[in-house]
Amino acid sequence: MKIGVLALQGAVREHMQSLAACGAEAIAIKHKEELQEVDGLILPGGESTTMRRLIDKYDFMDALKEFAAQGKPMFGTCAGLILLAKHLAGYSEPHIGVMDVMVERNSFGRQVDSFEADLAIKDVADSFPAVFIRAPHIVEAGENVEVLCKHNGRIVAAREGQFLGCSFHPELTDDHRMTAYFVDMVHQAKQKQPV
Ligand code: GLN
Repeated sequence: MKIGVLALQGAVREHMQSLAACGAEAIAIKHKEELQEVDGLILPGGESTTMRRLIDKYDFMDALKEFAAQGKPMFGTCAGLILLAKHLAGYSEPHIGVMDVMVERNSFGRQVDSFEADLAIKDVADSFPAVFIRAPHIVEAGENVEVLCKHNGRIVAAREGQFLGCSFHPELTDDHRMTAYFVDMVHQAKQKQPV
């Protein structure tokens, strides 16, 4: 089983290390053709507007939408969640626009630019050390979206079938349980895919 990390910008190497720690083969995806080699994809944190610019520059958008249409699991962390969301507060158009959530960018305020919190995440961990960096949060979740975690009343992790998204950076600590949850999603989806 191979899992890609979109490697245009952002926290790529840390995700690769976290995947390896979970026993998955990690591939840095720099060209759209490489998406065909992987069973799941992580969209890392970074800067969503920069990533979007690079997605367009390297002609990735259709390939990413096709990857989603094939039912393959995608995990967006922080800026990656912004890329996955169908709706962005204050913007008329989404980016990839596949996960039925409304996301607000930089929504924890300037004073608390970056912080750490211990989170209880359904099916993942009772106490997970989560690092937030200029994080977005999910303002609204569609009816098929399962909320996995709230922090101070705000949704910070959710799943909709093949799509997983979180506001924080699960790859920045030694706790790999969130990554392991995604690896398990990819494993299950692969078993269902026709050979
Ligand atoms: N603030 C960034 C954005 O809006 C996301 C920050 C992050 O990924 N750590 O794209």
